[in-house]
Amino acid sequence: MGEFDLIRRFFQRPVHHAALGVGDDCALLAPRPGMQLAISSDMLVEGRHFFADVDPAALGHKALAVNLSDLAACGARPLAFTLALALPRADEAWVGGFAQGLLALADAHGCELIGGDTTQGPLNICITVFGEVPAGQALLRSGARPGDDIYASGTLGDARLALEAMLGHVALPLEALQAARRRLERPTPRVALGLALRGIASSALDVSDGLTGDLGHILRASGVGATLDAQATSQLIAARALFTSPDSSLPPDLLHQCTLAGGDDYELAFTAPASRREAVQEAARRAGVPVTRIGTVEGTPGLRVVDGNGQPLAARYASFDHFGSI
Ligand code: ADP
Ligand code: MG
Repeated sequence: MGEFDLIRRFFQRPVHHAALGVGDDCALLAPRPGMQLAISSDMLVEGRHFFADVDPAALGHKALAVNLSDLAACGARPLAFTLALALPRADEAWVGGFAQGLLALADAHGCELIGGDTTQGPLNICITVFGEVPAGQALLRSGARPGDDIYASGTLGDARLALEAMLGHVALPLEALQAARRRLERPTPRVALGLALRGIASSALDVSDGLTGDLGHILRASGVGATLDAQATSQLIAARALFTSPDSSLPPDLLHQCTLAGGDDYELAFTAPASRREAVQEAARRAGVPVTRIGTVEGTPGLRVVDGNGQPLAARYASFDHFGSI
């Protein structure tokens, strides 16, 4: 199967938002009056972001999910995306599975594939998403103010727990492993929550490299500091019961490692004035995802992580840094 057959068969689809989709030299996309385009790219590389034997449908889902997560973090509504794909070979079954996972998530968010590039090479997937947000209303990293509450959506740490188990560092019961793997391989972009938080959150980002490190980006961009409650964050892992059961074999440190510095969560971390607590919870209800208050923004620079008694946590929980580990 040639490059053009492959594109036609799997990636050429009718478009609705875009003026022109796949098939010409460029796609055409016009933002509506009063709207700004929100644009983001994320690349997934075999061996670095996923294992070679990952289910292609899950990979298609994740490749788009991590991009939609960036739109969510800005409070932008997804419109369209492009797909640049390097494939070792034109394996129809593999590409079919990949396209199915990718396009199912795209359709669920009304985000249409409008172009891309296909080449032979080591497996590499780069997606660029385009969203729209009313001019001036995008949620940015720079708006956190002293006194704001800090929140996280959904659950934190399960993806990292899955990774630790898949690398053979810890052993998990089968059912728990499957649930955790689902969080790693099929993350849920919090698009509805991002939209609901427009006009409420003072800053936001999506947690991809680990909570403490990502929160650090908000603090630096906003010129503030914060105290984070590790007692609250430790409750956010779906696999809580595995850590608290009396015969648990998991290292005690792993709970904080996963929740504070796990990576691959794709939840939203955001701040909002304390006067907007009810509005935040109402936004969460509308979006159908729980949000939990996990800390407070302060004027003093730096991030202080404390336990349930307000005592500083002994260990440092650095998040994942791609170049730090090379
Ligand atoms: P060009 O030679 O102008 O770069 P290509 O031959 O690479 O064009 O692509 C032809 C058309 O197919 C273009 O509209 C391009 O956007 C689209 N396309 C190529 N690869 C993909 C892909 N993986 N997914 C979606 N569209 C693609
Ligand atoms: Mg091209």
